[in-house]
Amino acid sequence: MRHTFDYLIVGAGMAGESAAQAIRGADPKATIGMVGAESHTPYDRPPLSKALWKDGKEEAIWRPIDKAHAVIQLGRHAEKIDRDEKVVHDDAGDTWQYRKLLLATGGTPRTLPFGDGIIYYRTYDDYRQLRAKVRPGARIAVIGGGFIGSEIAAAMTISGCKATMLFPEPMIGARAYPAALARSVTDYYRQHGVDVRSGITATGGKVTANSAELELSDGSTLQADAVVAGLGIVPNVKLAQDAGLQLELGGIAVDGHLRTSDPDIHAAGDVAAFPATALGRRMRVEHENAALTMGNRAGLCMTGQDAPYTELPFFYSDLFDLGYEAVGVLDARLETVEQWVTPFREGVIYYLDSGRVRGALLWNTWGQVDAARVLIAAPGPFDAQSVSGRLPVTA
Ligand SMILES: Cc1cc2nc3c(=O)[nH]c(=O)nc-3n(C[C@H](O)[C@H](O)[C@H](O)COP(=O)(O)OP(=O)(O)OC[C@H]3O[C@@H](n4cnc5c(N)ncnc54)[C@H](O)[C@@H]3O)c2cc1C
Repeated sequence: MRHTFDYLIVGAGMAGESAAQAIRGADPKATIGMVGAESHTPYDRPPLSKALWKDGKEEAIWRPIDKAHAVIQLGRHAEKIDRDEKVVHDDAGDTWQYRKLLLATGGTPRTLPFGDGIIYYRTYDDYRQLRAKVRPGARIAVIGGGFIGSEIAAAMTISGCKATMLFPEPMIGARAYPAALARSVTDYYRQHGVDVRSGITATGGKVTANSAELELSDGSTLQADAVVAGLGIVPNVKLAQDAGLQLELGGIAVDGHLRTSDPDIHAAGDVAAFPATALGRRMRVEHENAALTMGNRAGLCMTGQDAPYTELPFFYSDLFDLGYEAVGVLDARLETVEQWVTPFREGVIYYLDSGRVRGALLWNTWGQVDAARVLIAAPGPFDAQSVSGRLPVTA
């Protein structure tokens, strides 16, 4: 079957939905098509590892895609772009003609070469699968000590399960937080009952529908009722790569107007490597704020508006009752300056590189995201003394 649209969006996720709304607002008469590989309409992913394990309601995660009046084809994978014909081919043999195309294809979780039943946590279906296994006392092994792993371990513990975390780093969040904070977070997890096994990886094992046995790098084995992994994602660039679009940082390279190397094809969200003006370099991030704002700007740009993406995205996380917002680069290898009101509970951490602020971690500190963006854009030079106090701690 052949479909024809003014605007075609591949990827029915957060960036795709945001783009569809922006297009509809700017071009009320346009035809918009959306092809999504999942069987669900677009939804918010952050609640899958947070609110839905507390008081959040499932009905609240769905994004209001109806308002965009797009034709949505779910459960369909776009396989190939013919740039000369301006047509996308899908895995059912349908063709999708476009005038402007958006690639909002997100990423696919990294996997391990064993344990077929491991839940690589990314989608609503993954949430449903895990939810079915969660009951008080269930043993849940969580592989990965980054954002997803630490949020899921907290969620499992809050739900009454016995969570065991495995990761190669010495502490939870070791790549992002300064050592003292990472140590404190790790202790905090242990105090909440999580069995934190740092410096340990899963090297093999068998995972069935109801039980799992993992072989660990210290020679021991771990029995569990379910295994969840958060090992990062690989951006879904195959469509773009096969079409000869320029790639960078593992994603699709876009300019300040989120155009790829083909002016009729835009990209947004986790898959897009965009110029971050404030940092003076290209960046690819996996953040809700980036997906929504990039989707919005890409949609507007596709309709012909001059709507550059100039925002430095922020992200956030919840770890039991600790929480933070963060802007820019959080890399523990940079010089870090810690400004605590209450050590490891309320404060700000600045990440410095060559006299510039490259990132800010606002630990239980709220309402400072815009000020952090201004600070990161400021030419400096800053050092530990002059940067301290620039962002007030406002709990
Ligand atoms: C559990 C979880 C918790 C998170 N928590 C936070 C948080 O607290 N804070 C934060 O800032 N960010 C968080 N994130 C990250 C945030 O959700 C992502 O950055 C955001 O979802 C990215 O949106 P996207 O539209 O780029 O990609 P996605 O939302 O992944 O959407 C991409 C869609 O494209 C589809 N697709 C891919 N290839 C094709 C194809 N060829 N044809 C058709 N469809 C295709 C995929 O199936 C997918 O549905 C979290 C993510 C997860 C998974």
